[in-house]
Amino acid sequence: MNIILLGPPGAGKGTQASRLVEERGMVQLSTGDMLRAAVKAGTPVGEQAKAVMEAGELVSDAIVTQLIDENLAGLAPEQGVIFDGYPRTLAQAEALDSLLAARGRRLDFVIELDVDEDALVERITGRFTCAACNTPYHDRYKQPVSAGTCDVCGSHEFKRRADDNEEAVRTRMAEYRAKTAPILPHYEARDIVRRVDGMASVAAVSKGIDAVLDG
Ligand SMILES: [Zn+2]
Repeated sequence: MNIILLGPPGAGKGTQASRLVEERGMVQLSTGDMLRAAVKAGTPVGEQAKAVMEAGELVSDAIVTQLIDENLAGLAPEQGVIFDGYPRTLAQAEALDSLLAARGRRLDFVIELDVDEDALVERITGRFTCAACNTPYHDRYKQPVSAGTCDVCGSHEFKRRADDNEEAVRTRMAEYRAKTAPILPHYEARDIVRRVDGMASVAAVSKGIDAVLDG
């Protein structure tokens, strides 16, 4: 099973990807991680990417495609892949189709974690964590039992991420839509896009994804 997992920041994409890796032995291919690994390992394509990045330029589709292909080459045929952060353009989507076909694979599903933007804003802007032990809390959904005191460690210090504000969340949503808009029609035409409610509980999202994969 080869899938693309899509979802705006805050929809729980990372959680779901880790779960699929753990429970199904799938491999997550994130372009950022692959690039960093190739640069670190000093592979030919890594050296190429490094030169491009040092020149302050964007790594070309050709380099990314080669990276993905090299990573696929190292996998057992039955190992499923989760593509993360790629493709972002129609040209990349088409390149992915051909390189998967060349390896006897195909893209089975594009799973998008759907979110309601206003609800997402509320969810994200309400988040805070204990400054001492990082236990997560929420203004609306999970206040400490005793106000101002961490349930776990008793600390009175809490922190919020600077980018967990409404404007930043709406900007991230707009960026997400701009990134996925070019590729969704390509996959919708093949009827492989499936949407799962990303606002549901982690358990419900997991169940929704499993239903797609096992359906
Ligand atoms: Zn704490």
